[in-house]
Amino acid sequence: AERAAERGLRWHSYSSDEQDEASWRMSLLGELDGAIDSGQVWVAYQPKYDLKSGMVIGAEALVRWLHPERGAIRPDNFVPLAEESGRIGKLTRHVLDTALGDFATITSAVQRPVVAVNLSTTMLSAPNLVEMVCDALWRNGVLPEQLVLEVTESAAMTSDENALAVLERFRSMGIGISIDDYGTGQSTLNYLKRLPATELKIDQSFVRAIADSRSDEILVNSTIQLGHQLGMKVVAEGVETTDVLERLEAFGCDVVQGYLIGKPVPFNIFTRNYRPQITE
Ligand code: C2E
Ligand code: CA
Ligand code: CA
Ligand code: CA
Repeated sequence: AERAAERGLRWHSYSSDEQDEASWRMSLLGELDGAIDSGQVWVAYQPKYDLKSGMVIGAEALVRWLHPERGAIRPDNFVPLAEESGRIGKLTRHVLDTALGDFATITSAVQRPVVAVNLSTTMLSAPNLVEMVCDALWRNGVLPEQLVLEVTESAAMTSDENALAVLERFRSMGIGISIDDYGTGQSTLNYLKRLPATELKIDQSFVRAIADSRSDEILVNSTIQLGHQLGMKVVAEGVETTDVLERLEAFGCDVVQGYLIGKPVPFNIFTRNYRPQITE
């Protein structure tokens, strides 16, 4: 209510946190376009660490908004808003372009580093998505093999034939497809095996739980075997302790991501920390 008062908005006497929240979101929405254009919206990179080679093989691009008055705004607070309001196309293009532009500068790698970009569910039905992705690859001179698109399990579970065709199209171009937040949706085995995915990304809630829950341990272990049997690389996210890392390693997990390896950081820090590994 305080914020609303500052803005000279009138409130009912029952003004609640929800209303506060609603007005906050509305005003953010109006600022998103300008924020993208003026560089307030930037991209952080979190390392993806390959357990077999012991090398950082790439990163996940995670969008950030540094607002001049409100400070850092979490993507959970503005990505859903952008989805609901039709601004997600512009945001996605911005993240894709930034991520591919940044990764295009890592040139001397023997094995080219891969960058993963998150795709909102709503983007899967955007008519210009394939064109947008191709255009961003071409403009930045990045190979399709260097890009992974992360779609959530629930988005990937769509019965929308168009969305499936789009994923297949990306796949045939050589772009990787990762099923994000795996375990939180209810995809059937039958469905999973039909998906043109290259990577299964186990949700952090399960990963974190393996340290003290035997049943979660069994679940994660069997998910890793399942992913492998379906020909996918398995990634665990939210790895925060060596205990969890060691268990994942014992289960044959391929790649880990999490604060233990590295937090999302600006590109110059990412390359400073990992360039020796990436370009070796
Ligand atoms: P996500 O794709 O599941 O990303 C993983 C989130 O977990 C990120 O939060 C990351 O910073 C956080 N994380 C990584 N390792 C750890 C860890 O060890 N411990 C803990 N506690 N957290 C960890 P972030 O950056 O706040 O992003 C939240 C969500 O916002 C993402 O979840 C994704 O769904 C969405 N998002 C982020 N960037 C984009 C984007 O460019 N486009 C779209 N459409 N969505 C995005
Ligand atoms: Ca993700
Ligand atoms: Ca995730
Ligand atoms: Ca998530």
